[in-house]
Amino acid sequence: MLPYNDYGNAMRQRLGGRVQKLAIDAALSCPNRDGTIAYGGCTFCLNEAFSPAYCRTAHTITEQIDQGIAFHASRGRSAEYYIAYFQSGTNTHASIDTLHKIYHEAVNHPKISGIIIGTRPDCISSEILNLLADIATRKYVAVEYGIESTLDSTLHHVNRGHTFADAEHAVELTRQRNIDVGAHFILGLPGESREHLIRQTEAINALGLNFIKFHQLQIYRSTAMASEWLSHPERFALNNITAEEYAELIVEIIRHLDPTISIERFASQAPRNLLLHSPLGGVRIDTLRSKIISKMTSTATTQGDLWLGSDR
Ligand code: SF4
Repeated sequence: MLPYNDYGNAMRQRLGGRVQKLAIDAALSCPNRDGTIAYGGCTFCLNEAFSPAYCRTAHTITEQIDQGIAFHASRGRSAEYYIAYFQSGTNTHASIDTLHKIYHEAVNHPKISGIIIGTRPDCISSEILNLLADIATRKYVAVEYGIESTLDSTLHHVNRGHTFADAEHAVELTRQRNIDVGAHFILGLPGESREHLIRQTEAINALGLNFIKFHQLQIYRSTAMASEWLSHPERFALNNITAEEYAELIVEIIRHLDPTISIERFASQAPRNLLLHSPLGGVRIDTLRSKIISKMTSTATTQGDLWLGSDR
């Protein structure tokens, strides 16, 4: 048994079999790039880093689903349940008619059991959540918010364009519709110490998430953050963190994390040609995961054993 609440296992139990997510690019833009909120985007963002090869906006959503299933099958990853994961850009940043069309094209595909909508905490509305709640009466639905940090000073510094209070509000509105809600956080943003990254778990627990992803900060070439990293490396506390040290940090975070939150990722692996710098010495994600499990197992620690609980 794993010492933490694993997202893959949680989804298998939830749907009754092996689940595979298929990344979808709906060709929606980002309000933090197109001027709706700001221009230029988040200082760390290189959007192409998040799109797998089979996912191209020249293809319809149906084609992307078919290609995604074939792609995973060719790597021996067939599944009983497929979830369309609207990943690239901000997948609530369009008219309600457009969103209705793209979400339904996905859920009406005969092999699709549900959708996960990746978006920003300040780009959601009751109208959109009602649309998703309606779909949730027939298929699995989750919303995944990019929250990245609990500190407003950090969010401002990296030009996120939203606050942590926006995130709290968005998660609450989503929970009220009984829609699953997840979030991702970046570990190692400028100005954030290791102590803060452990301490912020308390604020994360208070959100009431169903699932979570942690990513180490990776510095993509040609981004504003690449310039900051070159000129002010001292701002990046995890700049030279080793895989061993990162695994220790993750264990501490997991030990403070509410055990009902399933963990989908501890780190990510961007294509090397896009990166100016990535900590962890290029360790493979599965090796890192094994390190984390082995550290927790050998010390008999588990998710949430340092969590003080809540009345939520
Ligand atoms: S990280 Fe997300 S919100 Fe930020 S610029 Fe990129 S796509 Fe937009």
